[in-house]
Amino acid sequence: MKTRLSNEYKAQLAQNISDIKSKIDKAKQGNNKDVTLLCATKTVPADVINYVTGEFGITAIGENRVQELLEKYDQLDLTNVELHFIGSLQTNKVKYIIDKVCMIHSLDSLKLAKEIDRQAKKIGRVMDVLVEINIGEEENKGGIMPSELESFLDEISVFDNIRVRGLMTIAPNCERNEDYYKYFEKTNRFFIDILPKKMHNIYSPILSMGMSDSFETAIECGSNLVRLGTVVFGQR
Ligand SMILES: *Cc1c(COP(=O)(O)O)cnc(C)c1O
Repeated sequence: MKTRLSNEYKAQLAQNISDIKSKIDKAKQGNNKDVTLLCATKTVPADVINYVTGEFGITAIGENRVQELLEKYDQLDLTNVELHFIGSLQTNKVKYIIDKVCMIHSLDSLKLAKEIDRQAKKIGRVMDVLVEINIGEEENKGGIMPSELESFLDEISVFDNIRVRGLMTIAPNCERNEDYYKYFEKTNRFFIDILPKKMHNIYSPILSMGMSDSFETAIECGSNLVRLGTVVFGQR
């Protein structure tokens, strides 16, 4: 992956991140809870990622393909940065990332839970996970159907080497920004009503929702972690 880190691009990144930070502050509407800005780094070269994390205090990055994560991993400076896995994850690839990521956002099957638990146990760690919920009930999308969330949380509570930290969703693409509200509000209801009922004492619960076209709405609806690619790095 060839770098694009010209002075012009550096200035653009600074501007983008400053714009995003003020939009996040505005969307919080005066409540002072923290919202984590996770940079979604697919197709972004490692030196650009290192520049952004080093220069602007970004503490979370997310890759969504195992192959790409492995290609960049050795070049990433993760001293003050947590690497998340945010894409859909095949069971047979868990072993490649289990020692490299701090959290998996896309737990959506019992089979995957079993394998994350097994691989985490092997290396003596407990893996933080988010359960992905398919809030738009779209057929070709990953995620647990809303009606199955409660039973799924029960099923995965037996795994000692998995720690559920919250929920993640990818909303259906909406034409108008206001159309996102119903999906995000519904997800937030699962986050505040169902999750604590099933999982007690979750340490600092995370609701991972909102991407470039929807993060302000997501924050208004309770998101405390937004995953942003395009608005940070420009069009892929
Ligand atoms: C790419 C990606 C994002 C960021 O998408 P943008 O629209 O570029 O902000 C967020 N979440 C996941 C899972 C992604 O794959």
